[in-house]
Amino acid sequence: MFIALLIMVTLMIVFFIKFQHRIPILMYHRIATVPGDRNSLPPEKFKEQLDYLKKHGYHTITLNDLYNHVTLQVPLPPKPVILTFDDGYEDNFSCALPLLKERDMKATVFPIVHWVGMENKWENFNKQLTQTMNWDHLKQWHAAGMEIGSHTLEHPFLTQCDEVRLEQELRHSKMILQEKLGAAIDFLCYPYGFFDNRATEIAKQCGYRGALAIFANAPLWNHDMYALPRIPISSRQPSWEFALKVSRFHILFIMLRKIERGAKWLRWK
Ligand SMILES: [Zn+2]
Repeated sequence: MFIALLIMVTLMIVFFIKFQHRIPILMYHRIATVPGDRNSLPPEKFKEQLDYLKKHGYHTITLNDLYNHVTLQVPLPPKPVILTFDDGYEDNFSCALPLLKERDMKATVFPIVHWVGMENKWENFNKQLTQTMNWDHLKQWHAAGMEIGSHTLEHPFLTQCDEVRLEQELRHSKMILQEKLGAAIDFLCYPYGFFDNRATEIAKQCGYRGALAIFANAPLWNHDMYALPRIPISSRQPSWEFALKVSRFHILFIMLRKIERGAKWLRWK
């Protein structure tokens, strides 16, 4: 009994030391009230979350801040957290941006280059139709001190693309965004969170400083700038879950969800 307890305490200490510097990266999609869509967070809930971060001393940082910290040891503010928005919906501009600016907070948006300023018809999941940010919105987003990354040209499953298509999706999307916005595009977001070694290698060759996945597909033990695990923020989660997801114990959430997914996968087999 005593030995079991000792092993558990030792494991907890190792776990705490190993992951104490990991920074939570949150993944949002739409900021809108869409009943039944867990990827659309109602504006009042988003506002509540930003106020929670402010009240509890969290500081939003950019992905470049993370890069500079990892590569050049540039210090970070206390309790850093990264906010990211996938797909570049118009409500990110009209709703999230003013709330972020009011609180002097930072976030990164990942538009899909060929779907900028259009309806979200790349989604075949019976989702509510909506607009995406146009080029002018993206320019204003950047001018407000926010970050922009690439979410590819067409939002394909990169693991199903041949190398020619992979190169186009990663390199051309970066080039077009840089040309149109006059901003450096340093980070890539893998559509659906899926990637493989080829995607990682090509991302490096294209000059990305890092790439973002979803916690379920990213390695947990090693910190890899080209497979950064993100935590989805669902409209269905209670407030305590958000508090856990941004805390230094967020890694515990990722670990438990990975175990849960692994168990489900085993049951299906
Ligand atoms: Zn996406």
